[in-house]
Amino acid sequence: MKYDLLIKNGTVVTSGETYPADIGIADGKIAAILAPGGKNEAAKEVDAGGKYVLPGLIDIHSHFREPGYPKRDDFRHGSRTGAIGGITTVFDMPNCVPAIDSKEHFELKRNLVEGNSSVDYGFWGTITGNDLSHIEELAECGAIGYKIFVGQTFGAIPSPAEGALFEAFKRIRETGLRIGVHAEDRGFVEYFEEEFKKQGRIDYMDFDYARGNTSEALAIARMAVMSHMAGNKMHIVHMSTKEGKAIVKAARGLGVDITCETCPQYTILTKEDFYKYGQIIKIHPPVRTTEDCDSMMAGLRDGEIDILSSDSAAHEKDEKFKTRSIWDVPAGIHFNEHYASIMLNEINKGRLTLGQFVRVSSENPARIFGMYPKKGAVMVGSDADFTIVDMEKEIVVDQTKTHYKQDFTFFDGFQFTGAAVCTILRGTVTAMDGEPTDQCVGQFIDSNKLKK
Ligand SMILES: [Zn+2]
Repeated sequence: MKYDLLIKNGTVVTSGETYPADIGIADGKIAAILAPGGKNEAAKEVDAGGKYVLPGLIDIHSHFREPGYPKRDDFRHGSRTGAIGGITTVFDMPNCVPAIDSKEHFELKRNLVEGNSSVDYGFWGTITGNDLSHIEELAECGAIGYKIFVGQTFGAIPSPAEGALFEAFKRIRETGLRIGVHAEDRGFVEYFEEEFKKQGRIDYMDFDYARGNTSEALAIARMAVMSHMAGNKMHIVHMSTKEGKAIVKAARGLGVDITCETCPQYTILTKEDFYKYGQIIKIHPPVRTTEDCDSMMAGLRDGEIDILSSDSAAHEKDEKFKTRSIWDVPAGIHFNEHYASIMLNEINKGRLTLGQFVRVSSENPARIFGMYPKKGAVMVGSDADFTIVDMEKEIVVDQTKTHYKQDFTFFDGFQFTGAAVCTILRGTVTAMDGEPTDQCVGQFIDSNKLKK
């Protein structure tokens, strides 16, 4: 058989196995897993000698800001920086303008993104305030799940009242889709923000206090109770605290179908880093302590945390730096071009293994969202999505050479050992050696075609 593409001389890593193999790809699928070094014919070859071949990374938490914020980012830029960072599939968040809270807005976004993505993409839907009238139509459109903001964050989508939320949870249960919760307790956060503003307190540590560990733990507990009573599937996004993790564990003990994710920033950055980097470090929830970072990494290792995602979210440089008051700085950092490098660097330090990384950043997201083994697996018949990594490559981030729509990134000047050196989406190379190929071959992922 003549393959469209042959990945040669690499070492395949899945969550359970590491083995040398060549991989033959035809029609965008894995056609054969071959003995290494065999004589196989292919139209194109990628030499993965000395490198590891992982199933493509899946980022279920991206903010490509389309529609609504064309100066910050868009799918064309966000997806190609994602591809450079080793990502082959994203689920994009709904806090756009307009918010993705109806069929009309969902289809608007779908039309804008069509033909402009270097990654396969699904969309989260959302609920604005107490308006529950669009829940079923979002499922019909193929939304991947429902993102619920129970506290204020970027985009200022009003949170539903508790009663409305309970009704929404029950109706979402009928769609079979998972609810993704941004867990910061609204009452807790608003109280301190208002108090501190009245007192003229505008510093980073005031913000940090207002959104402290208690805020996250409270929100997770409330949502776990809600989910338990309504009987629906729940996912906690960007979890950052050891207390939050403990509550997720307790909820599982009660039989709640609850999954959770953390992000690279919550495994490596702490509040002390504010003194080094300044207010650019403002994100929701805030970065925590070394103890929390270690707890998040331990959760990725031992399986208590299911998923790693990026929550990469761009703002304009002026917005992040121009104001003195921390309350006026928008929350979010963008970094997906170095998504793989940030974690491979930690793997090189021994904080995580490559197999565990594959489990949380590819296999588990695929399983939890019904895409496995089409995605998240190296099996004959799976989509030919691959992230080829070089564990020895030394990277110094130079923001003048990155490919973001913005000409800055939080991680400017950081040094990492390890990088994604080739990203392949359904047999097409989407990035190579830190450069995009601008192959906008990404396809829409329709949840109606997945196992729910
Ligand atoms: Zn987010």
